[in-house]
This record gives sequence, structure tokens and C-alpha cells, in this order.
Amino acid sequence: MKNYKVYPLFDITIEKGEGNYVYDTDGEKYLDFYGGHAVISIGHSHPTYVKALTEQVSKIGFYSNSVVIPQQEELSEKLGKLSGYEDYNLFLCNSGAEANENALKLASFQNGRRKVIAFKNGFHGRTSLAVAATDNPKIQAAVNFTDNIQLFELGDLEGVKDALAAKDVACVIIEGIQGIGGINDPGAEFLEGLEEACRATDTVFILDEVQSGYGRTGKFFAHQYANIQPDIITIAKGMGNGFPIGGVVITPKFEASFGQLGTTFGGNHLACAAGNAVLDVIKDEDLMTNATEIGDYILSELEGVSAIKSARGKGLLLGLVFDEPVKELRGELLKKYKIFTGAATDPKVLRLLPPMTVTKADADILINAIKELV
Ligand code: PMP
Repeated sequence: MKNYKVYPLFDITIEKGEGNYVYDTDGEKYLDFYGGHAVISIGHSHPTYVKALTEQVSKIGFYSNSVVIPQQEELSEKLGKLSGYEDYNLFLCNSGAEANENALKLASFQNGRRKVIAFKNGFHGRTSLAVAATDNPKIQAAVNFTDNIQLFELGDLEGVKDALAAKDVACVIIEGIQGIGGINDPGAEFLEGLEEACRATDTVFILDEVQSGYGRTGKFFAHQYANIQPDIITIAKGMGNGFPIGGVVITPKFEASFGQLGTTFGGNHLACAAGNAVLDVIKDEDLMTNATEIGDYILSELEGVSAIKSARGKGLLLGLVFDEPVKELRGELLKKYKIFTGAATDPKVLRLLPPMTVTKADADILINAIKELV
């Protein structure tokens, strides 16, 4: 049988990872400024992570959610402490799309409404509701198109307020910082305005932190640069450092609807072992501080490079906006300098989302390569 799905962007087979580097089958070493798409939070094969997973799987990797799984409690406690959301509940699932699908359903369970407001250039996943709220018709099938979803420009508070006035919108969903769309920061003022408008109309306010969360921006969640407390926050990617795990962080006021959520694999022993190890390393190695320091260092070292028109984002979720599409630049960075970087739907944006463990020395390799190429 052929693997039908394979459409690799790079003709490279990665067989090993260590820290901020990955290695191909010829032993060639690559600096990872892509993080496997913002997934590698604590570096490849971190010893704490390897030990936690190995020990867990040697005892038990999976048993059904119908029994007590203490590792889930441990995870929610650690997540609450590190994020500051200690009064919230955690529903564990397996991916970002699943987290958003559950968040959107939960909002509608809660208030019985069926409309959703989302934003242009936003991305929330590929399952039915998540993809319907995503600004990309190319990945939507006919069955996903629905009049229930309305997309607004980021920053269009008046438009959103008008739409909420009828009190028939179940929820507003927005990324803490838009990732795939090109690292677009909604800004504190807009997020605060949205929250106020949601509160005034009993609309559920959902923050998608699947890409922008887990410390990458220097705070645990990107929205914590604003003064808001969303009803629901969705997480995945960096949460498992490569092990599939997602979560929905939910205010207790939705407790009555929690029983309507469910999943077979979510919150299994092994996934929780991965999740707990990630949180331990983020805390013990102070990786949020590192994310801020290295991100700021990259921006200051690249200041004045004339081909870069502007820089967006925070910490280690950065978008460098060039005069021209960055496809060739990314190719050169990979071929000539052995550096993986990320693209965006905005073709002129080079996306940087390395492990939060990257060092100044790693950053210098990228900075020098960009300076030599542009
Ligand atoms: N939300 C955001 C902001 C994302 O960037 C992504 C994935 N790129 C998703 C949701 C979907 O996550 P997953 O691919 O794990 O379903």
C-alpha cells in the first residue's frame, strides 16, 4: 500500500533530533527554527521528556478514561500554576482541531446559540466546525460551508459589536496571535474590547492558543499581554513536544455541559507523561524568559536589514516581513545553511518558531545566514 498522504515540502528524511537540531539519514545536521510547526517546545529528545515517556510506557501507556488517571490531575495542577488559570477545568484531547471543535461545541451547549464569529487570516484546524471558522476556503468541503460563521477583520471591533447585538452569537474565537496567517497580533486593546462586547451579550469568548500558547511568546498565553480572562482557552502543539495532545481550558461556569464532551484517547497515561514533562522543563529551565530574551535578541540584531520591512510577534513566535515572497529565502536557508524556518499564508512572511530552548549561539547562526542571503 502506498502512503497516499505524503506531499513533503522538503525532500529530507529526518531520523534523529537533539536539542535545537535535527539530523537526516546522511547524518546532516539542521538548526530547527521551525520547531516541527511550533510543536517542539522544550527541544528534541529532552532527557527529562525521554525519561518520563520511557518510564510511563514501561508501566502502562494507555487505559480507558473510565478509570482514574492521576497523571491528568497532575497535568491540570501544573498547567494551572504555570499559566495562572488555577480555577479553570481542563478537558484533554489529542490535537488543536479537536480542542477547538470541543470549545465551539461547548459554547453552543452553554447558551444554545448557533452562530460563531471568527477572524480573517485565522486558522483553527481541519475538523468540521474548526475548519468552518478558518479563513481558507481551499481546505473546506461543501459540507463545511455554513451561514453560521462570520469572519471579521482583525481590529474591527465595531463590526463585531454590531453582530453581537442581536444576542444570537454563541461565541467569538480568536488566536492569541495569528500564526499561519502571518503572525498578526490582535493587540491588547482589541482583545479587551472583544471581551467586554462578549460579556455584554452573554457570548462565549474563546482564545485559540494552540500555536501562540505554552510560553512561546514569553508569557504562558499570548493573550496574557492583555487584561482579559477568556471563558475558554484551547491548547495543543507545544503541549506534548511532539506527542499528540490537546486541551480545552474551561471556566467552571460551564460545568453543567462538561459531561457532553468525550474522547477515547484524550488524557491517556502516556500523553499526560509527555505533557507533565513539558511543563516541568518549561518551569525548571525558565524557558519563557529564554523565549523573550532570544526573540528580542533576534529582532535587535536584524534591525536595519533593509530587505526586512517589519517584524511581528513576540518572543519566539516571530514573523519577518520581507519585500518579496520568502519561498526562495527559505529554500536557501535550508539548502545552504541547513536551517529550517516556517512559511505563512502571507507569502512575504518568514515565520520563526524554534524550540524555546534555542540559544544565542543558535540565533547567531540564523541571523548571519539571513544577513548573508538578503
Ligand atoms: N489552531 C491554530 C492556531 C493552529 O495553528 C493549528 C495548527 N496549525 C490548529 C489550531 C490545529 O491544530 P492541529 O493541527 O493539532 O489540529
